[in-house]
Amino acid sequence: MSIAEKFVSMEYGPAAEDSKEATTWLERHGYRFQHFIGGGWQVPVAGEYFDTVDPSNAEKLASVAQGSAADVDAAVKAARTAFSGWQALPPHVRARYLYALARLVQNHSQLLAVLDTMDNGKPIRESRDIDVPLVARHFYHHAGWAQLLDQEFPEYVPCGVVGQIISWNFPLLMLAWKIAPALATGNTVVLKPAEFTPLSALAFAEIIQEAGLPAGVVNIVTGDGSTGAALVKHPDVDKIAFTGSTEVGRAIRAATATSHKRLSLELGGKSPFIVFEDADLDSTVEGLVDGIWSNQGQVCCAGSRLLMQESIAETLIAKIQDRMSTLRIGAPLDKAIDIGAIIAKVQLDRIRKLVDQGVADGATCWQPQVTLPARGFYYPPTLLSNVHPASIVAQQEIFGPVLAAMTFRTPAEAVELANNTVYGLSASVWSESINVALQVAAQLKAGVVWVNCTNLFDASCGFGGYRESGYGREGGREGLLEYLEPAWFKNAPALPAHKTVAPLEAESEDSASSSADTPPIDRTVKLYIGGKQARPDSGCSMEVRAADGRLLGEAPLGSRKDIRNAVEAARKAASWAKATAHNRAQVLYYCAENLSQRRDEIAQRLAAVVGEKQAAAEVTLSVERIFTYAAWADKFDGAVHNPPFRNIAIAMNEAIGTIGVICPREAPLLGFLSLVMPALAVGNTVIAVPSEAYPLITGDLYQVFDTSDLPGGAVNIVTVYASQLLKTLAEHDDVDAIWCFGDEASAAMAKSMSTGNLKQVWTNEGRAIDWFNPKLAEGRWFLEHATQVKNIWFPYGE
Ligand code: NDP
Repeated sequence: MSIAEKFVSMEYGPAAEDSKEATTWLERHGYRFQHFIGGGWQVPVAGEYFDTVDPSNAEKLASVAQGSAADVDAAVKAARTAFSGWQALPPHVRARYLYALARLVQNHSQLLAVLDTMDNGKPIRESRDIDVPLVARHFYHHAGWAQLLDQEFPEYVPCGVVGQIISWNFPLLMLAWKIAPALATGNTVVLKPAEFTPLSALAFAEIIQEAGLPAGVVNIVTGDGSTGAALVKHPDVDKIAFTGSTEVGRAIRAATATSHKRLSLELGGKSPFIVFEDADLDSTVEGLVDGIWSNQGQVCCAGSRLLMQESIAETLIAKIQDRMSTLRIGAPLDKAIDIGAIIAKVQLDRIRKLVDQGVADGATCWQPQVTLPARGFYYPPTLLSNVHPASIVAQQEIFGPVLAAMTFRTPAEAVELANNTVYGLSASVWSESINVALQVAAQLKAGVVWVNCTNLFDASCGFGGYRESGYGREGGREGLLEYLEPAWFKNAPALPAHKTVAPLEAESEDSASSSADTPPIDRTVKLYIGGKQARPDSGCSMEVRAADGRLLGEAPLGSRKDIRNAVEAARKAASWAKATAHNRAQVLYYCAENLSQRRDEIAQRLAAVVGEKQAAAEVTLSVERIFTYAAWADKFDGAVHNPPFRNIAIAMNEAIGTIGVICPREAPLLGFLSLVMPALAVGNTVIAVPSEAYPLITGDLYQVFDTSDLPGGAVNIVTVYASQLLKTLAEHDDVDAIWCFGDEASAAMAKSMSTGNLKQVWTNEGRAIDWFNPKLAEGRWFLEHATQVKNIWFPYGE
């Protein structure tokens, strides 16, 4: 064809990326790879290998070591040996290593991009222009954090040895999201890449060597799910960071329940892409191309549910179909390809099955006329319209190039539909009205909201989910905190069984003298639910005894029904979540004022259990602690990030929702308020189980709350033996987080019972917290657990 003819036909010619460097690299390794352990290549102990395949043609690329428990053990040992040296390095030295990694990623960017495309099937345009530049950006950004670590996190220490398990859809990018913050904060790493896509991680192992990182700081063990499971189970791993499906995330939560392993979960999504009638529809369509057809839709935050305002639905569908007809599908190494190959046959079959089910549910399926390559695994871009919100294709993550379209009439309906999912990873909102966009963004249950844009990521902006999309963030300051712990918390001693641990230990004479003076208690304490005193459903009660064994009184024994009522009351107390921060601060100050007025009588009663000195200290410090959180209520602000695009990202600290709190036994008043007040300050509602040692504190607390304008239901108190009803609270689907500050067994129970809706769990790991030391027992660490960060991205410019 002559050039003149080409101008007329505008046909694409082949534009294959040069894969020579990648094939030379494979050849150099003899198409066979070992594990990377302790700074060098190690043959798998069991001698087993598996094949990794190019999904664009179904041909084998290489054999890769199958990691066994013995291989994982060797890697964890190497990471443990390296840990003390790596942690002790001056921040500047660690910063230099991270900087070197960033530079080397850039130097080897062609090799890395081609390897990811060959191993994963994603278009080279994406791996070259999006994935690899973001990988380099991640290491640069975290080189900066390494430099600033001591100044910005002076009281914090690294978790230790971190096990990291990643998915196949962004092989190198997920590796960077995991490894960069872990190294910057002084942890050492054992990473298991996905079975389908190990190659770029193995190429990165060579970059580690080239950067001269000390042996064992990063170890890479390849393998399948069983290798991941061995890493999760390993007793010498201090933290698991996981990216993958919600199902496996749940299994990991259960498997780590009886250990002290920290856990962060980046899981699946079914993200809404909401289009209002005033949106710029042409930009919206381009957004959709990125939102659902990039990486063949195999993106955790894919905008897979299109919610269109009814008035523009027909026009928008027509524009989408026009644009879909121009998408080019084919060999992913071709630079002019929009849609590459699906990762594997099993995933292709899954996509087909789900689309068939969607059609059976009543959806209309539209696909452009495209010729799919004869070999490899390909699926055409697909639009399902008239989808019912309850249909499987509106609810389940398809992880393929399939868009499910629905309509709405009002912004309120859009929000309801958008939140009608168990997930909460991301959302995209399209409207030219900033008021509408912000109003909707604030109401969406999602960790990231893109306004008039989609699928933007940056190392400075945290990424992660709400609800069953997991917990923890990657990127930004909050991402670093996933790899750090306050030293005092990490090193706190184990809580002795049923003993007070206050520094102001009760003395026996105090108890004796107070018991002599204490009048018998004849008040009836009740449960506190929805702002009202309530009798327990069971009609039973629990005995409360003084330190010297005297019977002090009876507290109601809450039942499952009472817990459920309390959860319902907490959910209804929406007015608290919506109150301004100033209002919340006012109410908290009022609580402090009312507690202060009743300090003597409360201390006198409390003294019977904890002694006079501790009781006096608890009351005094409780007033101060409430002041602290009243002060924080209107100051725990978020941040505005400046990612390197024409965008700003507003990082908002949002309340988690309803939190179940098992209060510490050892400080009945101060422990209760140390946990409940930070939760309230940022807008959560609470179901609290007070100290088993002195549940009668409930009577004093509800009198304070009742006289302080706290809306009914914001705090609910159910007195009960924690071990009896922890399960009910931890399993309740309307509870968003559980804080358990009891013994080690309760901590394990809270974690293992919370897998249903994957609620966030925070425990003391059975450790003794010094509630009497304000430097330790109050402040940001508590507020950070009471909030989750939502990043709202806005583009600017014309
Ligand atoms: P999987 O959950 O199947 O696998 C993720 C990783 O876990 C893989 O390395 C896998 O190994 C390993 N694994 C499998 N079983 C176990 C186990 N029992 N214990 C420990 N590790 C195990 O997810 P996919 O790889 O299929 O990835 C797709 C999912 O990842 C989607 O749901 C997607 O939404 C989510 N994702 C979330 C992101 C986020 O940031 N929120 C980002 C990217 C993806 P193997 O590969 O051998 O199976």
